[in-house]
Amino acid sequence: MTGYDRVRPCSTPAPVSPIFHTQALPPTPCMAKSPVPELAVLGGTPAFAQSLHVGRPNLGDRERLFARFNEMLDRRWLSNNGPFVQEFERRISESLGVKHAICVCNATIGLEIAIRAADLSGEVIVPAYTFVATAHALQWQEITPVFADMDPATHNLDPTLIERHITPRTTAILGTHVWGRPCAVAALQEIATRRGLKLMFDAAHAFGCSLGGRSVGGFGLAEVFSFHATKFLNSFEGGAITTNDDALAQRIRLMTNFGFAGFDKVIHIGTNGKMNEACAAMGLTCLEGINEVVAVNRRNHAAYKTSLAGVPGISLIAYDEAEQNNYQYIVIEVDESVVGLHRDELVRVLHAENVLARKYFWPGVHRMEPYCSLFPHAHLLLPETERVAGQVIVLPTGTAVSEVDVARICGLIRSALDQAPAVRARLVAAASS
Ligand SMILES: *Cc1c(COP(=O)(O)O)cnc(C)c1O
Repeated sequence: MTGYDRVRPCSTPAPVSPIFHTQALPPTPCMAKSPVPELAVLGGTPAFAQSLHVGRPNLGDRERLFARFNEMLDRRWLSNNGPFVQEFERRISESLGVKHAICVCNATIGLEIAIRAADLSGEVIVPAYTFVATAHALQWQEITPVFADMDPATHNLDPTLIERHITPRTTAILGTHVWGRPCAVAALQEIATRRGLKLMFDAAHAFGCSLGGRSVGGFGLAEVFSFHATKFLNSFEGGAITTNDDALAQRIRLMTNFGFAGFDKVIHIGTNGKMNEACAAMGLTCLEGINEVVAVNRRNHAAYKTSLAGVPGISLIAYDEAEQNNYQYIVIEVDESVVGLHRDELVRVLHAENVLARKYFWPGVHRMEPYCSLFPHAHLLLPETERVAGQVIVLPTGTAVSEVDVARICGLIRSALDQAPAVRARLVAAASS
C-alpha cells in the first residue's frame, strides 16, 4: 500500500439490484445537474452492484504469463535465482537506471535485509505516516524507529523536523516515498551527510516515479520496492532492493539466500528472502504491460481531478507533471469544517455504495502496537501526521476502474456533501439504534 490492502480475490456481489442509472450517463464526467439517485445511506440502492476496491490488482497479458509458467515447469527450475528472476532483475535495473536490483519475496523482508546489510542499529528516524512495515522492519531487529512528522504539502518526511530527533544512538534516516511522490531527497541527503547518518528509502509505492528526472531506485544507500498484488507493479508477492553500492549489493545477495556463496559454502548470516520463478514470471509479464497501466491510472486521476474540481473542502493530491509518475493512488483530503462531514462519515457513505474507499495511513504507525505502548507521547511531535491521517481517503483506480466509475464515485461524493446534514443525522441515528 499503500496503499495496502489484502484484497479479496473476488468482490462480494451485492444483492441483486436494479440498474443504477436508468438514463445514459453524460459523456463528460459531471453529474452535478443530472437527477441524482438517493444515496444508499439514505435508503437508496447501492450505486455499484460489484464492490470497487482500492488496489485491485492490475494483470498483465494472460497468454504471456501462461507461456512463462509452461517454460518454468518444463525447465523444473522453480526458485533459487532462476532465469526469470535474473531477467526480472536485469529489466528492473535497466528501467530504473540503477546498478543493482535484487529481487526478494516481499518488500518487508527486503527492508529487513537492506537495513541489516547496511548495518543500521540503535535508532532510525522514520515517518509515522507510512505503512506499518517501514517501522516493523526496524523493530523486528531491535532497532528503534523514531517517528518524525510530515510536510502536509507532500505527505512525506519534513526535512526541517528531522534534526530534533537525532541522538547519539541515531544511525540512519529511512524515508518513504508516500503515494509514489519522492521524498525531499536532496534535503534529507544533506542532513544525513552532515550528521554522519545513512539514508535509505521505502520505495514500495514508487516504481516508475522520478525526481528531477532521475528514477526512484538510485537514491540514498538503497531503496526497497514492493511488488505486492495491490501495488503498481505486481508479482503476486515480491519486491526488489536497488542500490548503486557494489559491496552492499553483494551483502544483500548473500543475506537473501542464507549467506550461501556456492554449494555447501556459507560465508554470511542470512535468511530466505528469495523471489521464486512464478512470481518473477508474473513480475516480468506485468512489467511488459506497465505503460498501459500508467495510461489508465493517469486518465483516472485526470477524471477525478475534473469531477472534483471546485468541490469545496475536498482536495485531490496532485502529481508533478514534469516528472514520471505511476498515478497509482487517488488521494483526497476532506476538510470537515468546510464539507460538514467527517472523513469517516464520507467513508461510510461510500462503503454503503460498494465503493470500498480506504483510510490510509490511519491511525499513523505511532498509534499502532507495539509503538503506541512503547512511545505513548509520540503524537505530541506529530501534529501534521495526526491531522492528515484523519482527513485522507484513498479512492479506487487502476485497470479495474473505468472513467464512468470515476464519474459515479465523484457524483456520490458531491451528493453526500450536498446533503451533509441529512447524511450526518442518518449516520448518527444508525449508530444509536
Ligand atoms: C506495501 C508496503 C510495504 C510492504 O510491502 P510487502 O511487499 O507487502 O511486504 C512496505 N512499505 C510501504 C510503504 C508499503 O505500502
